[in-house]
Amino acid sequence: MENNFIKPVIHISKCIEFAPCRFNGQIIASEVVQRLKPFVEFRPVCAEMEIGLGVPRESLRIVLDNNQFRLIQSATGKDCTTDMQNFADNYLNSIDIADGWILKGRSPSCGIGDVKYYMGVGKMAHQGKCKGLFGEKVIEKFGYLGIEDEGRLLNFKLRENFLTKIFTFARFREIKKQNSMGALVKFQAENKLLLLAYHQQAMRIMGRIVANPEKQPVAQVLTDYETHLHTVFARPARSNSHLNVLMHALGYFSKELSA
Ligand code: SF4
Repeated sequence: MENNFIKPVIHISKCIEFAPCRFNGQIIASEVVQRLKPFVEFRPVCAEMEIGLGVPRESLRIVLDNNQFRLIQSATGKDCTTDMQNFADNYLNSIDIADGWILKGRSPSCGIGDVKYYMGVGKMAHQGKCKGLFGEKVIEKFGYLGIEDEGRLLNFKLRENFLTKIFTFARFREIKKQNSMGALVKFQAENKLLLLAYHQQAMRIMGRIVANPEKQPVAQVLTDYETHLHTVFARPARSNSHLNVLMHALGYFSKELSA
């Protein structure tokens, strides 16, 4: 099958494999990111550097204050919440293409859910876990995409799901650019078994959308299709769905097999 390979555009925390911009001047090694480099267009960003904090810098922490998570530089007491929120809004609104995100886990800025928060800046135990301020904004705006941290990507199942999402979304982005029903029909045919493994019901609805019995304009069909594509990938495929798909695929050639 012809497969025009499209490089996914992945936004990534700059300290993962791209620059030694952590508060202590370190860079984070990630074999997954290294191995992806030839196949992905990475767009690195360091939110803390973008708000004017240098390297090295005093570390930040999340402090719960009046029911609000604030981003505080513990040693200086500097409150970076507004700067970070403004930067995140402006930066995320300026993004033209995104097929996924890889963010630094546990960071009070980039973390996607495992960030410790405290009730103050002194020496104390953390109170619970939350998202980083930048990570939270990424999830708010791009929640339908694959968003992972470098630690979670060490898990085979999470990584497989993430990679499936980013490469499928990148290919669909190209279909949208072509704005052609023929290209969409081909995309649906080529991805039918994948969609079936993820979400049988949505796959059938997508088949009907592509058939386009009401002769909707192409742009409308693509928009409807994309909405369902996001639904399909909202949760990972279950293993019994994989089994169903394999049985389904076997049906194509089982008559050719000898006992
Ligand atoms: S975690 Fe985010 S803000 Fe912190 S150094 Fe890495 S890229 Fe910069």
